[in-house]
Amino acid sequence: MRLDKLLGNMGYGSRKEVKLLLKQKAVTVDGIVVKDAAMHVKPEVQHVSVFGERVHYTEFIYLMMNKPPGVISATEDLHDKTVIDLLDPLAQHFKPFPVGRLDKDTEGLLLITNDGQLSHNLLSPKKHVPKTYYARIDGVVTEADIEAFKNGVVLDDGYKTKPGELVILKSDTVSEIELTIREGKFHQVKRMFEAVDKKVVYLKRLSMGSLKLDETLELGDYRELTEEELAASK
Ligand code: URA
Repeated sequence: MRLDKLLGNMGYGSRKEVKLLLKQKAVTVDGIVVKDAAMHVKPEVQHVSVFGERVHYTEFIYLMMNKPPGVISATEDLHDKTVIDLLDPLAQHFKPFPVGRLDKDTEGLLLITNDGQLSHNLLSPKKHVPKTYYARIDGVVTEADIEAFKNGVVLDDGYKTKPGELVILKSDTVSEIELTIREGKFHQVKRMFEAVDKKVVYLKRLSMGSLKLDETLELGDYRELTEEELAASK
């Protein structure tokens, strides 16, 4: 990897700013002052330092976001802000992407990473990773809905869902529920409720596999996964 790219990725500024550091003889590779921005370095084996401080290179970034409503869970969009637009430039340098999709109006847990393998593992239909959602439903949710979801419901396109676990938190004209599903069809939670003639009016993802939404994160905020969270997600 080029030295200026490495330092840019690790937050040492733009190409121009990195050039300035090099000119100032602030950068060493294996203890030798380097001024060539284009020099190729192997960050896993070579020691890169800036002003004597070791640069600890990481290839991957793992962020947990509390997705706010109104933003798209994609890397780019022609009309709307994306979750990637909410990240600081340093995080954006890693070229991360959201793991799976939440609808524009859905809130809650979104994992953002540049680790394609982890993303694949979490999204693969073969792995049956459980995802739990909290929702408010326009309509009285009943025991019959619990049974229906347990047996699988037929969506508008004829697809029969795998068993889902529905927990009723409040059964009223506007009900509150938690639903755990192990697949990820387009608009699945909303369409499952449509299948039982009810409408989701608010949706928030609480967990994905072992990863749970950090409720101290404000909407739109994010933080790196802890080592424990990452190890449990792999
Ligand atoms: N199911 C939905 O309907 N929407 C989401 O955003 C996630 C799951």
